[in-house]
Amino acid sequence: MKIAVFPGSFDPITKGHVDIVKRAIPLFDKIIVAIGFNSEKKYFFDLDKRIQFIESVFAQDPSVVVDTYNKLTAFYCQEKGAKFLLRGLRNSTDFNYENTIAHLNATIGEGLETVFFMAKAKYSCYSSTVVREIIRGGGDASLFLPDVVVKLI
Ligand code: ADP
Repeated sequence: MKIAVFPGSFDPITKGHVDIVKRAIPLFDKIIVAIGFNSEKKYFFDLDKRIQFIESVFAQDPSVVVDTYNKLTAFYCQEKGAKFLLRGLRNSTDFNYENTIAHLNATIGEGLETVFFMAKAKYSCYSSTVVREIIRGGGDASLFLPDVVVKLI
């Protein structure tokens, strides 16, 4: 069984994240969208909301499941029997960060492979940070969000 973990904060999930998962569905038997949380960190949407958003988006995709974790990503993957990590690349800033993390995960995770998808051009400026800033400022962030998430917010 080929299992991939897509780790992130998903605060909240955007159309950019959704596109990465949809493109990865044909490659894996199971994709775990794993919300990493840290009790020290403040999030905009609480964990239950973020889970609900993701579950609603992938309600019609049986191979996609949602989970949460608060240990090292590589250890979480071992626990789940996942040999692949899924990440998206928007630009060179993402690349520089992801390059380091992918090597770290391969070492700690004993061969854990990170599979990268290039962000589609139309989504390459989408980020959860931008969405949070718009909502904080009272603007409309629906362009960046899956329709089901817009309805739930
Ligand atoms: P983190 O908190 O680890 O940065 P995020 O929830 O922001 O996690 O993102 C998780 C993953 O999704 C990262 O690999 C990130 O590069 C990718 N990602 C975020 N936004 C987009 C987008 N618009 N297009 C493609 N990939 C994206």
